Amino acid sequence: MRVIKAEHLGMCFGVRDAIALALRENAAAPLTILGDLVHNETVLADLRAQGVRLQSFDEDIATANVLITAHGASQRAVERLHRRGLNVLEATCPLVRFAHDAILQLAASGFHPVIIGQRDHVEVRGLTGDLDNFDVILDENDLAKLGEHPRLGVAAQTTQPQNKVEKLVAQIRERFPDSEVRFIDTVCRPTKQRQNAAVELARRCEVVIVIGGAQSNNTRELVATCRRYCLRVHHVKNAHDLRAEWFTDAQLAGLTAGTSTPDATVDEVEQWLKNFSAQVLTKNPPQLETIL
Ligand code: SF4
Repeated sequence: MRVIKAEHLGMCFGVRDAIALALRENAAAPLTILGDLVHNETVLADLRAQGVRLQSFDEDIATANVLITAHGASQRAVERLHRRGLNVLEATCPLVRFAHDAILQLAASGFHPVIIGQRDHVEVRGLTGDLDNFDVILDENDLAKLGEHPRLGVAAQTTQPQNKVEKLVAQIRERFPDSEVRFIDTVCRPTKQRQNAAVELARRCEVVIVIGGAQSNNTRELVATCRRYCLRVHHVKNAHDLRAEWFTDAQLAGLTAGTSTPDATVDEVEQWLKNFSAQVLTKNPPQLETIL
């Protein structure tokens, strides 16, 4: 069995920068991260091991410094932390910040904001937290419940698949032909690159392994994308989740990973696959053809 990796996979610059900032600040003074810095259990365990505190609620913060995650937060949430006397550090990814600015600009120009994404995801809560009126839609069922507005301003959670976002925007235009619909593309480039590379990978491989945290939205989206092109797709957190039986009779296995998956975890899974492949080859050596 041969093992190939997607052209683009794994940790994005936004997550790398956020982790680096958290470690740097924590080395200087005790730091609490508000919420999961990334949706990856390995990364969070490493941060805890280095003394970084992780809390989900403002009232549980016991350090003077608090870090907003790469997913960002609303201005209202940041101001709440300032009012508590905390020193707020922001690891918000610049591409999430672009999405915030786009949505606020749409709202300020008189468009009713519609965000394509998961309503309860931390990034979407941040994107909508400064708005008084807005809608969040994830699929056609949500679209069916969307009310009419003369002007609709559409943007998306940064990790939504591009094709899904474009399809929903087209359906919004179709459903409200009399409304002015303005769309700002806020899906981030690393997400687009990983999604496109996953399609190429899944088209070629008999088995695809997607590595990432169970709660990672972009990892789950990669799994869904790969499943459109390949029947044998498995989502694993790390090499311990891999099962030999998944690769029965497979000649080509592919590997991809979400934007919060550390390089070490990708390497570990790749090594497991290579070792497995070598074992299979030892047990079943290729037969030499007899040339008559
Ligand atoms: S997935 Fe995109 S928006 Fe999110 S941290 Fe990475 S680069 Fe930034």
